[in-house]
Amino acid sequence: MEDKKDRLYQLAEQIRKCTSCPLWKGRLLAVPGEGPADAKIMIVGEGPGAEEDRLSKPFMGRAGKLLSELLEKNRFDRERIFITNCVKCRPPKNRDPSKQELEACRHWLEEQIKIIKPELVIILGRIALKNLLGKAKIGDFHGKIIVHNQQKYFVTYHPSAGIRMVKWKKLLEDDFEKLKKITL
Ligand code: URA
Repeated sequence: MEDKKDRLYQLAEQIRKCTSCPLWKGRLLAVPGEGPADAKIMIVGEGPGAEEDRLSKPFMGRAGKLLSELLEKNRFDRERIFITNCVKCRPPKNRDPSKQELEACRHWLEEQIKIIKPELVIILGRIALKNLLGKAKIGDFHGKIIVHNQQKYFVTYHPSAGIRMVKWKKLLEDDFEKLKKITL
């Protein structure tokens, strides 16, 4: 555990200094991710927004509030989950990260997964789905477990989509209920 914690810490220090893609130029702070090194669940979003960039913590804004609500409602302890993103620096005006930015950043996420070895990685939204599993259609995969390279993933919508449309909020709520049943 101490070793895992140290390795994650060292990795976070490297992420904070990363200049591998142009996003570093616009960041206030990189957001490596947060949570315990022995987390059984990891959550992967898209990339930091304004609040996250300011605080260097993931899912702090409106999407983060909805994520916390979904977790709480289904009795998941947010503190026990390692939460991170596909890109660790904020894209300007919260645009989607580009293919090049995702590619430049992917090894950090892969290393985090390798160190933590979670039982389950929860993928939030189409960007993370494409980035981690190479799949484009979230409608075909949400609410399902996918095993890829011996790692278990659960796919659902991004909380920002739930904020935009009631339809997606309902799907998110249903998926989190399914998730509770799966992980019980
Ligand atoms: N905040 C994050 O940390 N990630 C997202 O994908 C959205 C908001």
